[in-house]
Amino acid sequence: MDPRFEKYAKLLIKAGIGVQPEQSLVINCSAQNYEFARMLVSEAYRAGAREVFMRWGDQVIGRERYLHAADEVFDSFRPWQADMLNTLAREGAAFLSVIGGDPDGMRGVDHSRIMREERVSGPALAEFRQAQMSDKVQWCVAALPHPAWARKMYPDVPEEEAYKRLTEAIFSAMRITEDNDPVEAWRLHGEALNERKRKLTELNFKSLHYVNSLGTDLTVELPEGHYWEGGSTVMPGGITFNANMPTEEIFTAPKRDGVNGRAVSTKPFDVGGEIVPRFAFTFENGKIVKVETEDPEHLRRLQDAIGVDEGASYLGEVALVPFDSPISNMDVLFYNTLFDENASCHLAFGASYPTVTGGGDMTPEERAAVGLNDSITHEDFMVGSRDLSIVGTTHDGREIPVFVDGNFAL
Ligand code: ZN
Ligand code: ZN
Repeated sequence: MDPRFEKYAKLLIKAGIGVQPEQSLVINCSAQNYEFARMLVSEAYRAGAREVFMRWGDQVIGRERYLHAADEVFDSFRPWQADMLNTLAREGAAFLSVIGGDPDGMRGVDHSRIMREERVSGPALAEFRQAQMSDKVQWCVAALPHPAWARKMYPDVPEEEAYKRLTEAIFSAMRITEDNDPVEAWRLHGEALNERKRKLTELNFKSLHYVNSLGTDLTVELPEGHYWEGGSTVMPGGITFNANMPTEEIFTAPKRDGVNGRAVSTKPFDVGGEIVPRFAFTFENGKIVKVETEDPEHLRRLQDAIGVDEGASYLGEVALVPFDSPISNMDVLFYNTLFDENASCHLAFGASYPTVTGGGDMTPEERAAVGLNDSITHEDFMVGSRDLSIVGTTHDGREIPVFVDGNFAL
């Protein structure tokens, strides 16, 4: 096995999840990546982990279940399943997920089964989700290469070559080379993102206005007291972790009812395993009032996704990524949100991270009162383009260019 995988495992345990002595760790990993999982587990114990819990998955078995399991199983969620994650979150465990599979792996699955399951699992896992979204627990999502994923990305080259290219792309995005110290590389990267976060938080914009030639013309108000997040997260006790690896974005929450205009997507969007190439949302006072896309089946799926609950049709994230940035410059579509969102400015519909002062300790009612959105879903979609301009308006009416021609102007 490529020795860089050892470095990768160490990076995820140290800079990714930052597991602490005497802390429990939960690892979600596909069964076919068992060798990498073993590396993670031994690195975790070396770092002093109390106990590591494995949650094995398999995309093919998951698909079989959606296709053939009894219909009623998608309308209930067993309490013990929720109990495991809710209890471990309450006890302060850390949660590491290693993803990466066939982007078309859920093709042909009845989308309503996935949505029904989300509707019952969402409320049952509310405690776990809240702990994650308010950074009360460490969590990290990273990816490993997969043959079908590589084929999808590089259909014109032999399989082995495609797999090699995807592996190189992942190591490059993860800032791992044969002879560097990736933990140090990530520390420096985090500092650069911190600088950007600080600038935007200080400007304290009232709203952002997005325009590009594809038809995006969108105004997003930001809540009072908002701050910009991104890069590594520092918990109250000083523990740091990186929730997404790779990450190139800084983000904050929009004001729930303060979004107006039209946003046109710039990269394919995955709805339950079906890839929607292009779509547009029109917003009125925060709510998505119109969905445009060519294929009627895609339209139905998008409408299902934003209809999963009331909050799903409102925005929960505004994220800025320069057009000229490492993953964007690879100029390849990953068909995987973890990578594609870090190549493009994006928005998310659904729940927002509580990125307002004191937000992490607010009750659901208080969060709603300051304009944060809540939902059982959170789905990123890309709106960045080479010609995207974003102008920020301050509370005293000054207009300041934030993005010019797809890149930061600050
Ligand atoms: Zn994001
Ligand atoms: Zn997001």
